[in-house]
Amino acid sequence: MKAYKNFVGGAFVLSKGTKRVPNQNPSDTTDVLGEVVLSTREECRQAIEIAARAFRPWRATPAPVRGKIVSRAGQILRQNKEAMAALLSREEGKTRAEAGGEIERSINVLEFNGSQAARMSGETIPSELPNNFIYTIRQPLGVVGAITPWNFPVAIPAWKIAPALVAGNTVVFKPATLTPETATRLVEIFVEAGIPPGVLNMVIGSGADVGDEIVMNAAVRAVSFTGSNPVGVKLYEQGSRRGLRVQCEMGGKNPLVVLEDADLDLAVASTVSGAFGSSGQRCTATSRVVVVEQVASRFVEKLVEHAKTLRVGRSDDPETVVGPLVDKHQYDSVLGYIRTGLEEGAQLVCGGSKASGPGLENGYFVEPTIFDRTTSRMRIIQEEIFGPVLSVQRVKDFDEAIEVANSVSFGLTSSIFTHDASKMFRFVDAIETGITHINSPTTGGEAQVPFGGIKATGIGDREQGSTTLDFYSEVKVVYVDYTGTERTGHLY
Ligand code: NAD
Repeated sequence: MKAYKNFVGGAFVLSKGTKRVPNQNPSDTTDVLGEVVLSTREECRQAIEIAARAFRPWRATPAPVRGKIVSRAGQILRQNKEAMAALLSREEGKTRAEAGGEIERSINVLEFNGSQAARMSGETIPSELPNNFIYTIRQPLGVVGAITPWNFPVAIPAWKIAPALVAGNTVVFKPATLTPETATRLVEIFVEAGIPPGVLNMVIGSGADVGDEIVMNAAVRAVSFTGSNPVGVKLYEQGSRRGLRVQCEMGGKNPLVVLEDADLDLAVASTVSGAFGSSGQRCTATSRVVVVEQVASRFVEKLVEHAKTLRVGRSDDPETVVGPLVDKHQYDSVLGYIRTGLEEGAQLVCGGSKASGPGLENGYFVEPTIFDRTTSRMRIIQEEIFGPVLSVQRVKDFDEAIEVANSVSFGLTSSIFTHDASKMFRFVDAIETGITHINSPTTGGEAQVPFGGIKATGIGDREQGSTTLDFYSEVKVVYVDYTGTERTGHLY
């Protein structure tokens, strides 16, 4: 059985760790891709030391040269797109079409970040003094940790590793243990693109050992984390105590608002794709629909009719629309939330059980599930479920819709469906999310656009887009005096 290796100092090395877990296909757990060896803290420490040693020469490599390596990784990923999508689908459970979408996004991320090498520029600022000027330069930080989840196991590592490298940092990457094979392929692609030894390192292991070592090791200057709230907040607390620069992108509970003048068919189609695509395992998934009473019954009827047509199946079946949940933990948790919804008095109008049928015996399949007549006091409204479960909240008007949409701790994405331009812009103004959509699903994002949430969802600089390098670099200010004489007085 293949065992996944760490990548340290330019070589793939097998961990000496004694704990091993199988890497199973979530559509069929009898299909085992390989074995994950959980690395030790000491192995992570060594990787950090090697990354620290590689920093000076990498920092001295001109930014455009670093950018070319990252762009080349994008080209290599494009050449391997089909194989990578098939692997992603088998390992994580996305449908082939969804996996193809994630790989396309990852290629865009690599190409965009490669091109951002030219943005390692600063400002020239006039001084208040004669014959003086001031300029700024952007400099790398040192060793950066990238700690990532399983749900976008190629795109999220790509959108952290690429800007970190372009900015001149060296990286220690800790992928989720559920997706080691796609992580390994991504690292191989960087190697093929020409990344020098020690500049990019990968250590596979648990959050408690490898993740914690990355956060606590003094040689690590910054950590970019994407994952759940409890882990992100703990990591931020620990890191900030030692002055670590931390960026956390965490959970969501994204609302889609439907007003009385909305195109209901469009709103239904967008809700269904946002709620049930990737089996609801997206931070940007639509998990709440806030609909005004006037059209609520008609909307719910259409929504349920559409959701019932969705085919649940194995990720490698081209007919599948809703694939499996990633593992038993996630499957049990989602079924537990469905029970909670029933106990809380929500009205189940679609699904509500595990999905069964030929070929589904050994996977983690759950029916697309819809609860109607839910309220903001319910746990199924307040907590991230991360599965194919959607809750409908009925409201009397636009003002109540905004109040209800904002009634959760999270703030990642949102949507509104209306043709009323005034309400669109009032919504944009008032909605408490980092991203919002008008007449389109809550999901999606583009490489050249900043991405991230507010409130409990996000801590630190936005990832991607024009802000992609901000987290990974420091601004240094340089005062230049070319008078050639001693300054006679100080301004401040
Ligand atoms: P998770 O928090 O369980 O794990 C994320 C990563 O953190 C993993 O690599 C894990 O091993 C590591 N980790 C765990 N404990 C740690 C510790 N004590 N110290 C350091 N690292 C530790 O999250 P998950 O289940 O892998 O991912 C799903 C979550 O990710 C959901 O909440 C989802 O909303 C969120 N997510 C957010 C975004 C976003 O951009 N906002 C994108 C994708 C996923």
